[in-house]
Amino acid sequence: MKILLLGKNGQVGWELQRSLAPLGDVLALDARSSDYCGDLNDLQGLAATVQRFAPNIVVNAAAYTAVDKAESEPDRALRVNAEAPAVLAAEALKLNALLVHYSTDYVFAGDGDMPWQETDPVGPLSVYGSTKLAGEQAIQASGCFHLIFRTSWVYAARGNNFAKTILRLAQERDSLNVIDDQFGTPTGADLLADVTAHAIRSMRQQPQLGGIYHLAAAGETTWYRYARFVLEQAQAAGIQLNVAPVSVGAIATAAYPTPAKRPGNSRLSTQKLQNAFSLRLPEWQAGVARMLIETLEK
Ligand code: NDP
Repeated sequence: MKILLLGKNGQVGWELQRSLAPLGDVLALDARSSDYCGDLNDLQGLAATVQRFAPNIVVNAAAYTAVDKAESEPDRALRVNAEAPAVLAAEALKLNALLVHYSTDYVFAGDGDMPWQETDPVGPLSVYGSTKLAGEQAIQASGCFHLIFRTSWVYAARGNNFAKTILRLAQERDSLNVIDDQFGTPTGADLLADVTAHAIRSMRQQPQLGGIYHLAAAGETTWYRYARFVLEQAQAAGIQLNVAPVSVGAIATAAYPTPAKRPGNSRLSTQKLQNAFSLRLPEWQAGVARMLIETLEK
């Protein structure tokens, strides 16, 4: 089986290199790859890559993920998050290949306090959210075999993420305030990659499992509670902190204005995914604790 992986050096892309390897021959690309074009800004080059490699599966982990910057670069975000996935879907359809793609909780308006179901109405608040939604819709409209995983609050041991930033700030600063009115679930890139590989295996036997799924770890938290959890783990590991977990301040979103508006309710219901693929997703704390051990050991 031939697998084309795009965005190989992102948080999820990096973990996918590991999880997809046992499934077949993986061609992993990023924007700088030279033999094959892996640049999602280059729509013709991207189509040529799929035509030349002729994969059975295309996994797109590349995305324009700079949420605030997207507000001032909407065309660039649209190309990478919507036009490129549309090209991948059109090429996958010609080959009868499966397209695996990732989307976001930011397609929702974030009102209420119930976990979002796949069938709930969307209403993105930001350019990033709108462009990711357009990407989903283009794939769905193409008619290709697809798996779209909407996820939230992704972290990985490799690269920068919220947990690492909080750890650094609590060592550098004398005080720390974190938003306490946005609810969601931190989700490890390793979990996303492992579930992706599992879903691809299942779909080989049962192609009717294709579609859109919410994929996030179990449980919920706020950025403030997440920050406290990270600092408690660090403290328990003997890390010296200027700001103790109990001293972190809880603030409202309104007190921390950003160019892009974020949803208050990012809870995702993962029932559909768990039922379809016979999975039980782990509580978010387990993955964050494991990532911190790896990070703190370095
Ligand atoms: P990252 O930002 O870690 O990775 C995205 C990758 O895409 C980067 O390696 C980036 O490369 C690459 N990329 C950007 N532009 C291009 C381009 N023009 N051509 C080729 N590659 C490009 O994101 P994640 O791994 O966290 O995200 C994976 C998926 O999950 C995405 O679809 C994202 O929208 C979704 N998601 C992420 C969330 C999060 O919290 N991170 C939350 C919800 C959903 P470079 O760094 O060189 O620009």
